[in-house]
Amino acid sequence: MNKVCAIFGGSRGIGRAVAQLMAQKGYRLAIIARNLEVARAAAGELGGNHLAFSCDVAKEHDVQNTFEEMEKHLGQINFLVNAAGISRDSLLVRTKTEDMVSQLHTNLLGSMLTCKAAMKTMIQQQGGSIVNVGSIIGLKGNSGQSVYSASKGGLVGFSRALAKEVARKKIRVNVVAPGFVHTDMTKNLKEEHLKKNIPLGRFGEAIEVAHAIVFLLEAPYVTGHVLVVDGGLQLVI
Ligand code: NDP
Repeated sequence: MNKVCAIFGGSRGIGRAVAQLMAQKGYRLAIIARNLEVARAAAGELGGNHLAFSCDVAKEHDVQNTFEEMEKHLGQINFLVNAAGISRDSLLVRTKTEDMVSQLHTNLLGSMLTCKAAMKTMIQQQGGSIVNVGSIIGLKGNSGQSVYSASKGGLVGFSRALAKEVARKKIRVNVVAPGFVHTDMTKNLKEEHLKKNIPLGRFGEAIEVAHAIVFLLEAPYVTGHVLVVDGGLQLVI
């Protein structure tokens, strides 16, 4: 199988777990993150002929260059995963404008830019599948995360609209919305306290979210869907 999957944020956490599953399934991968060394190490650990690229998704010229390079070295992109993301948690009154901008640019604008870049090739080949990684916080909101919530809520609106826009071209767009997952992003959270509120009683693992992402990447009759993977948190918040 020679199908190609581009994973933004594939060097660590949830994106890296997606890379592990997709490599096992025989897809050829582009692992993309800002830190090229970490991305190269992640690609190397997968074995096989996968490539790493450095890109800041918040920068349009970076995204355009990365798509040109990926297509030159790997061919047309069939699957796109947007797992690059950051959080800068603070009450709104204490949030610096630069932290608002960086979250919106990385989590929302970044996915818009990569989807736009992917459209050219996906429309040309009349097919493709995209999964954008949202968050349960984007659906439910959370104190101290208003800007992050906005970025992830915006991603849902964007993904559903794009799904309508490109369905006739046989391109699917879906969202996976995780709850608390063990990754670098959550390592400083008070887990003992937070997990008491989760019906399944624990944080999730990146691989558990990755299975949902891979399912949607491959699900031929699902588009515009938001799949929550949160241990039941949405039931109680
Ligand atoms: P990690 O911090 O573990 O990994 C983030 C990844 O994104 C890294 O590969 C990082 O590489 C990359 N990245 C960050 N900023 C950029 C950028 N500007 N351009 C390109 N790549 C970037 O995060 P998670 O795996 O936890 O998060 C993955 C996604 O899941 C995010 O969108 C996050 O918001 C979302 N999510 C996570 C939850 C959790 O509990 N962990 C819960 C809900 C949603 P580098 O730093 O080298 O660029």
